[in-house]
Amino acid sequence: MSLAEVKERIEKACKEAGRAPSSVALVAASKNQALDRIWDVLDHGHRIFGENRVQEAERRWPPLRAKYPGIKLHLIGHLQTNKVKEAVQLFDVIQTVDSAKLAETLRNEMDRQRRPLPCFIQVNTGEETQKGGVSPRELEKLYGFCKDLQLRVDGLMCIPPHDQIPDMHFALLHKLSLELGIKQLSMGMSGDFETAIRYGATHVRVGTALFGVRENAKAV
Ligand SMILES: *Cc1c(COP(=O)(O)O)cnc(C)c1O
Repeated sequence: MSLAEVKERIEKACKEAGRAPSSVALVAASKNQALDRIWDVLDHGHRIFGENRVQEAERRWPPLRAKYPGIKLHLIGHLQTNKVKEAVQLFDVIQTVDSAKLAETLRNEMDRQRRPLPCFIQVNTGEETQKGGVSPRELEKLYGFCKDLQLRVDGLMCIPPHDQIPDMHFALLHKLSLELGIKQLSMGMSGDFETAIRYGATHVRVGTALFGVRENAKAV
């Protein structure tokens, strides 16, 4: 699907939900995609991208940033505390804060680099043991901790379980955001971004629908 087609579908979903198309940002999830596909999307004017791994982003994005001004890079994969320094250097938004330790490490590093980045807290709405994210029950506590640290939390993010209908996960994330007064919601991927928009997504993370099948489908 082309960038224009994905944007059209986002616009249509917004209209159907009675929302302004400008209220949803498309985060192009570029992990494991060939560079020429990324160039193509950049050449069509798109500037918001999501990467999963610090190392892959480190290789790829500094030269692209030099060539294409205005890029906003979101970290959408799990962040280990030993990669926080590089992550704060490279990214513009961290979507995957999921522990007090990570929040604290990020806050310290942002101070050190004088780069106070906006963050999202990742919520493990399906309570899957292998998945990152704070459990819904622990969210309020982690959010309070971030507030005390003055770490800027703008949103919540979730990745619903593969084998479930995403609706209840999107609805839960929306409900949690209302309870806590958090404004942004990163949810919805290639297969379900229109559904996510119905439930209030402000950021949809779209990979394969935009770029095609990933080169190394394993490294999700
Ligand atoms: C890969 C990935 C996406 C995009 O998934 P697609 O199904 O290819 O659109 C979105 N979010 C996260 C966190 C991802 O890892």
